[in-house]
Amino acid sequence: KSKAKTILVTGGAGFIGSNFIVYFLNNYKNIKVVNLDKLTYAGELSNLNELSIGENYEFIEGDICDSKLVNDLFITYQFSGVIHFAAESHVDNSIKHPDAFINTNVYGTFNLLNIAKSHWQNAPFDYKEGCEKNRFLHISTDEVYGTLGKTGLFTEETPYAPNSPYSASKASSDFIVRSYFHTYGMNVVTTNCSNNYGPKQHDEKLIPTIIRKALQNDQIPIYGDGKNIRDWLYVEDHCKGINLAFQKGKAGETYNIGGNNERDNLYIAHKICDILDDLKPKDKPYSKQITFVSDRPGHDFRYAIDASKIENELDWAADENFETGILKTIKWYLKKYKI
Ligand code: NAD
Repeated sequence: KSKAKTILVTGGAGFIGSNFIVYFLNNYKNIKVVNLDKLTYAGELSNLNELSIGENYEFIEGDICDSKLVNDLFITYQFSGVIHFAAESHVDNSIKHPDAFINTNVYGTFNLLNIAKSHWQNAPFDYKEGCEKNRFLHISTDEVYGTLGKTGLFTEETPYAPNSPYSASKASSDFIVRSYFHTYGMNVVTTNCSNNYGPKQHDEKLIPTIIRKALQNDQIPIYGDGKNIRDWLYVEDHCKGINLAFQKGKAGETYNIGGNNERDNLYIAHKICDILDDLKPKDKPYSKQITFVSDRPGHDFRYAIDASKIENELDWAADENFETGILKTIKWYLKKYKI
């Protein structure tokens, strides 16, 4: 067991982090992951049921804002890399209760970076080696860019213009990460990804809500006129992009990740209903349950990603389009609900 290959993953009991750890450990037999997660309402240990605690995986319940804990973990495990997912992630919650977003997303990211820097300062990284040596990979969102009109795409050069407390907290964390490269020469990389969907997503998010409400015979709530557009990415495709950015990304760079799958919310609700009509038919179509509810304040109209940088420089490509990914996702939820 080599200490040089122990990676700290934060927020690994959440949706993307848990999918990532399983993907990562399946692909690299010589890497150990220590998963630090506070287990907020969004953390779910059963998301990691495929893994067993042991030689290559450990779970630590704790807060990324806890300096003593994070420092002790660095001393114990001598991490050679950090992959940072932990965040408060739900825009609607950030509108009602922004405090936790500022604490975890802004202060927590700073705390991790600062402690990583103090442990890594005497071990400068080697650009050529690339791989995870002393690398801090920060997972962020396309929401930092604000909203698009009907045309255009977010590139890595698009100016930041966050509109919700959630996106503002993520934008702040991105800037802190950036400053640790420019000021201290730390080996940081940031990824900004579009909306994810897939197995293990928290019930509160759009796609799990549509599936659950449809199956429970409840009204399926759609904000406003349902015309808001997101660029949907299947979570495993995101995990592949994160891994490439971690292994091969250039220090100090940011990479946008998105699957070229712009869909509006109403299309998504109808698509899910149509698939359920096929898989679990009932007397009337599921789409009859779709109901419009008042719009989210400050609701960004459209997000869409230009992913050509990660495609060209790191050879990333999405395997799923929305229609293939959503079918897999619905089948996973049917199993979860034992339907
Ligand atoms: P999630 O809400 O499902 O999971 C977040 C995890 O972080 C949970 O397990 C939670 O317990 C943990 N956590 C929260 N606060 C913590 C703290 N203070 N200390 C330690 N752990 C803490 O989120 P997700 O959807 O998996 O998102 C993961 C990351 O990816 C976030 O940084 C998010 O901003 C980013 N992201 C998400 C999406 C998306 O569509 N879900 C898209 C782009 C980027």
